[in-house]
Amino acid sequence: MKKLTTLFLLALLLLACDSKSIKNENIVQREPNSFAIVIHGGAGGVTRENHNQEQQKAYSQKLQEAMDAGYAVLEKGGNSLDAVQAAINVMEDSPLFNAGKGAVYNSEGNQEMDASIMDGKTLKAGAVAGVNHIKNPILAARIVMDSTNHVLLSGKGAEMLAEKHGIEMVDSAYFFTEKRLNQLRKVQGKDKIQLDHSAFLIGNELIDDHKFGTVGAVAIDKNGNIAAGTSTGGMTNKKYGRIGDSPIIGQGTYANNLTCGISATGTGEYFMRTIAAHEVSNLIQYKGVSAKEALHEVMFNQIGKLGGEGGMILLDKNGNVSWDFNSDGMFRGYKKSNGENVVEMFEQAK
Ligand code: ASP
Repeated sequence: MKKLTTLFLLALLLLACDSKSIKNENIVQREPNSFAIVIHGGAGGVTRENHNQEQQKAYSQKLQEAMDAGYAVLEKGGNSLDAVQAAINVMEDSPLFNAGKGAVYNSEGNQEMDASIMDGKTLKAGAVAGVNHIKNPILAARIVMDSTNHVLLSGKGAEMLAEKHGIEMVDSAYFFTEKRLNQLRKVQGKDKIQLDHSAFLIGNELIDDHKFGTVGAVAIDKNGNIAAGTSTGGMTNKKYGRIGDSPIIGQGTYANNLTCGISATGTGEYFMRTIAAHEVSNLIQYKGVSAKEALHEVMFNQIGKLGGEGGMILLDKNGNVSWDFNSDGMFRGYKKSNGENVVEMFEQAK
C-alpha cells in the first residue's frame, strides 16, 4: 500500500512538472468572449532621429486606423480571419507601408507583392506571390484558402483566380510611388537588397530609407479562434521572381489555436531558413517555454546569429500579446476587448 501511495505521489509530481504548461507569470487566461488584435507595419531603422513629429503622427494614426478596422470586425462578433484582413487592407491602401500601394521595387524596377493568411482553427492557409495587379493581395490569399485545394498561387495564376472572384484589379501603375523608385535607384547596381526601414552606408553615402514596411496582423475572436496574415512588396532591389518569407506558411505567417498566431517582418531569407513562425509555435507547444522566450530564442539566437534582422508579433491562445525584434524599432500596436490600446514604434521597453 505504502509503495502504491509513493508511486501515486511520484506520478502527480511528474504531471506537475510537465513542461507543456506555459511558464510565464504574466500570462492571463482567456476571459470568455474576449478578443484582441495585434498588428505591425514593418521593422528596421525605426528611430526617433529618422522620424520627425509629423511622420510619427502619420504612422501612429494609420496603425490606429488599421487596428480599429480589425477590432470593429471582432466587436461585432466577426471572425479573426476577417479582422486580420480588414486591418491589413488599411495598411495595404496606405503608401506609408511596403504592401499594396507603395510596395518596393525589384531590381528590374517592378513591384512584385506577396501575401498570406492562416486560420488557426483548421490550419487552412492561403497565399499569393509575385503579383502586381491585385489591389489588396491579402484578399487574394484568402480566396486561395477558401476556394482552392492549394496553399500558394503565384503570378498570373494568382491574378486570374483573384479576377475570377471579383477582387479589385488595378493597373500596375497604381502601386507607383516616387519615394520607392528613388529608394531603388539608390541601391540599383550595388547588388544589395534592402530591408524597408534600414539605413546603411554605401561608400560614404548613408542610404536612409526607413519609412515603409511590410504589414501583418494577428487576431483572436470571441470564439477563441486565432488568425494571422502578412502582406509585403518584399525587399528593395530583390531579384526578379524572388519570393520571401511573407507568403510562406510557417515562415512569415503561422496560426494555430493550440499555441498562437504570428506575423513576421524582416530580411526574409533568414526567416525562411529558420522556419521562424512555426519554430516559435513549436517551442511553445513542445518545449513549454513562454511566448516571450520563444520569440527571443528565434529572433536573437537563430535569425540574429545567421545575420538576419527584423521582428515578429504574436497573440497567444489566451489573447496575450508579445513581440520582439532585433532591429532598432518596429511599427506595432494592439487593441484588446479589456480596453487596452497601444501603439509603439521605437526601441522596446527593457
Ligand atoms: N520579410 C519581407 C521579405 O523578405 C520583407 C519585410 O518584412 O520588410 O519579403
